[in-house]
Amino acid sequence: MAIWRSIAAFAAIFGAVVDGSALFPRYGHKGLVESGKLRKLIKADALRKRAEKLEDIAYRSPGKNRVIGSQGHEDTVDYIVNEIKKFPDYYTVSLQGVELAIGGGANVTANNNTIEAYSVTLGPSGHASGPLVSIPNLGCEESDFPDSLEGSIALIFRGICESGIKVGYAASKGAVGVIIYNNVDGSLEGYSLQKFEDPENPYVPTAGISQGAGESLVAQLDGGAEIIVDLITEAEVKTSYNINAQTKGGDQENVIHIGGHSDSVAAGPGINDNGSGSMSILEIATQLTRFSVKNAVRFSWWTAEEAGLLGATYYVMQLSQEEKDKIRLFLDFDMMASPNYAFQIYDGDGSAFNLTGPPGSAEAEAEFTRYFADIAKVNHTEIEFDGRSDYGPFLEAGIAAGGIACGAEGIKTEEEQAMFGGAAGVPYDVNYHEDGDTTNNLNYEAWIQMTRAISHMTATYARSFNSLPPRNATAARKRAATGYARFKNTARFQKWV
Ligand SMILES: [Zn+2]
Repeated sequence: MAIWRSIAAFAAIFGAVVDGSALFPRYGHKGLVESGKLRKLIKADALRKRAEKLEDIAYRSPGKNRVIGSQGHEDTVDYIVNEIKKFPDYYTVSLQGVELAIGGGANVTANNNTIEAYSVTLGPSGHASGPLVSIPNLGCEESDFPDSLEGSIALIFRGICESGIKVGYAASKGAVGVIIYNNVDGSLEGYSLQKFEDPENPYVPTAGISQGAGESLVAQLDGGAEIIVDLITEAEVKTSYNINAQTKGGDQENVIHIGGHSDSVAAGPGINDNGSGSMSILEIATQLTRFSVKNAVRFSWWTAEEAGLLGATYYVMQLSQEEKDKIRLFLDFDMMASPNYAFQIYDGDGSAFNLTGPPGSAEAEAEFTRYFADIAKVNHTEIEFDGRSDYGPFLEAGIAAGGIACGAEGIKTEEEQAMFGGAAGVPYDVNYHEDGDTTNNLNYEAWIQMTRAISHMTATYARSFNSLPPRNATAARKRAATGYARFKNTARFQKWV
């Protein structure tokens, strides 16, 4: 480190005296990044220390987690910012505040009987009362709703689409409040509407209750009972942050964008999901500073992925078309160290799942495939390009995207056991969204492989975009983008909402 500093200082002084460009190689005094050299700098020990840091941060927080709005998430953001700010000559760092109404407690009574309830993230604080009306089906279609819900409270089942869609329909029909009931066991504490409200049709106070409580209310309504619900919700508006760090070097008009989410769910510290991806890219961003780049590299740590990709959605919403066009490719990294892993590449060319990303996505998949097959010489599989993580809003904006993952709650197949070891018939991550997602949950062999794969992609596109379609082709696609809503009508997405 000491030697480094003195070289940099020398270059700066020397450059001030004479024009350095004639005396130093074209890309500055640091060598142009190379995949092999960057990969060699990725060490399991450094990743382990960062994972332990995040676990400490989580365990110091009252809920022992890093969920949005918590001390644990704020400390995570501070840690990343402080680490990246160690390189003020190399990165421009910016924080983007995202205002979120974070749900807490709620009071719900039905004919004066109290029901255990929680208010939901993105829902407003408020007080509503009125007759309860059960909405048939799932409330994902406008036709599920009666013509008028004026003055009533709508009771809706969780699932299939974002709950924000359901609450939006109910509000547009005149409902003054909504109760969502769970589609699995357990309370809806920490639940989110997963979608920013439409300012033209604001959300109404919404509370979440258990599946059992919801089914009991439906049965009573079906039996002809009249139920008057009184509903009080409390939300705390907090500002949560996306972190963006972009190399000062490299062509600022042509950007390779690398991202992962910084938040966890409420259930636990979230060390695989997504301590792993966020620390992979922090370590790569740290090691990249030893090199120069030809294209700008932007690293982003998104907030509120677990509440519905909110940080990344907000970020993309705020980008002008000109700024969107500068992003030649966005790569997403979520869950890089699953204990029962598979090396999964997002199916950007649609060959396996028939969902094709914007131009450039197929090329990104091909480069990952080339890396795993020819360079790392390890097996890989493909997973559906369904928009389930932070690349979703980029797809919707027509921006080329890609990524890799080690797997969440999906079950490892026999073929995958033969390819990757581990146990068939068991989830990739048995601790997915549980309190057991700690440093003990990580598979370091997988993590180092994945981090090297990310390093390869970072170095490759920091050097050249020649393997991607011309920028104009993707820019045209971006302008024509009408939304990849179809990505959300998949089985994987259904499980998640
Ligand atoms: Zn995640």
